[in-house]
Amino acid sequence: MDQHPATRVVHHHTPTLPNSHPISVPLYQASNFGFDDPDALADALTGPDRGFAYSRYGNPTTRALEETVAALEGGTAAVATASGMGAISSALLGVLKTGDHVIAQSCLYGGTYAALSYLHDNFGVQVSYIPGEDPAEVAAAVRPTTKMLYLETITNPVTRVADQPAFLKAGKEAGLITVVDNTFATPLLCQPIRHGADVVLHSITKYLGGHSDVTAGILVFADDARYRHGWHHTMEMGAMIDPFAAWLTLRGIQTLALRMRQHCANASRIAELLAAHPAVTKVHYPGLPTHPDHDVAKRVLSDFGGMVSFDLAGGRDAGYTFTKGLRLVKLAASLGGVESMVLHPASTSHRQLDADALAAAGITEGTIRLSVGIEQAEDIWADVEQALP
Ligand SMILES: *Cc1c(COP(=O)(O)O)cnc(C)c1O
Repeated sequence: MDQHPATRVVHHHTPTLPNSHPISVPLYQASNFGFDDPDALADALTGPDRGFAYSRYGNPTTRALEETVAALEGGTAAVATASGMGAISSALLGVLKTGDHVIAQSCLYGGTYAALSYLHDNFGVQVSYIPGEDPAEVAAAVRPTTKMLYLETITNPVTRVADQPAFLKAGKEAGLITVVDNTFATPLLCQPIRHGADVVLHSITKYLGGHSDVTAGILVFADDARYRHGWHHTMEMGAMIDPFAAWLTLRGIQTLALRMRQHCANASRIAELLAAHPAVTKVHYPGLPTHPDHDVAKRVLSDFGGMVSFDLAGGRDAGYTFTKGLRLVKLAASLGGVESMVLHPASTSHRQLDADALAAAGITEGTIRLSVGIEQAEDIWADVEQALP
């Protein structure tokens, strides 16, 4: 029976004991597993499904998380990693060689952009950036050396939503490996493998963990051969997750459906209130009819997410003053936790960019990124409103 994701996140596969089984997944905080039979130990080191020998190769707690997220994303199998960037570097380095070309969306997560620049400067990987507005951009950017199309379901911070099924189809027609960073949407709002993606990845640190206490990532593969290759690469390069981080994530993920419902409902409310406020010139939220991708988002996403960005009329000073004036909402670099968090890109994450470079990324000097938490919406708004000019 094909269960709803809201059910899948609650029930995990747990081990069988002589007369019972634990209801929650136990934490196997073990780096090593003992064997009676030397052949069995040798065999356990040959693949991801031959038993557990050494936790960099596989661990029962980690495996339970991988199976849960693979099922949520509709993939064959998953590999959990030490961070979201661990998953991203594995997705890139596991496939790309010197001289290969990547087509990526231009408004990428900053760390991904930095990783691609590093691969370019040090390993001769070529990258072209496309706006992600018209699927014909893919065919126009393809070269004989193009290997990969790299997309994000909802982009940071201005929440653009590309027509994922159309872009993935264009990537497939060009013979490319398609990779989607689904961090902002989570598998509750979008399942890129069902739209044709080969690899989906997450920063678990954000919504999947959800409680601002885990740094981790995960790769989900549509087919078995790519999974085995991805597992082998990640294991050899050492980007594997720690079992405790996997255990915390399993605990957090049980409320993912519940949390996402609240994140989306709150964000939608806050976006409407911001849009009606005189100090705000623009609100970026895919759920608003004024958003350039609203129609696409209605098709690609089952809800519009918990991230809202907005532009303040007063520019850089107004943004800086706003973040200083908040009392409940936390000023923080990250997002996706149960608590509301805010970031002013121009004075923090993107402070090295001048007004022109910011504009190219769709950000203004007065842009604020709000990760809307699961608190009572009225309390979030009361804090935002008192800090607005
Ligand atoms: C945070 C983030 C990452 C990187 O994840 P880390 O866990 O910080 O390594 C990648 N992609 C997106 C969209 C993110 O928000």
